[in-house]
Amino acid sequence: MKIYPYLWTKKTKLTIRMRNVFYKSWMWQKKRDTVLERDGYLCQVCLRADEPVPADTVHHIVHLKDNPSLALVDTNLISVCFPCHNDLHPEKGFGMKNEKKFSNKIKVFEVNQNPEQPW
Ligand SMILES: [Zn+2]
Ligand SMILES: [Zn+2]
Repeated sequence: MKIYPYLWTKKTKLTIRMRNVFYKSWMWQKKRDTVLERDGYLCQVCLRADEPVPADTVHHIVHLKDNPSLALVDTNLISVCFPCHNDLHPEKGFGMKNEKKFSNKIKVFEVNQNPEQPW
């Protein structure tokens, strides 16, 4: 199956299979690395609470299924840790701790938050 994320529009309907192919694609893997690097490999949600937690997931602020045209747009992507990612997807039924409300409006990122990081 071949997908063309750069041709996706807001109205493109993505099947689960298309999303699976997308997340395995080199385009996404490359973009994911770029975003993690930009965010210093730290969870940006935890960081706002002054907790440096390693990020292992890159999340779509506007969910992929809600607007496929933002699939590979840097400003729609944010590095998060696994628990925060679950919180960001209440539809998956994991998010139990709702105190950490994440605002879609916060889109200011500081590159290299801590220059003393070993990486
Ligand atoms: Zn986190
Ligand atoms: Zn997500």
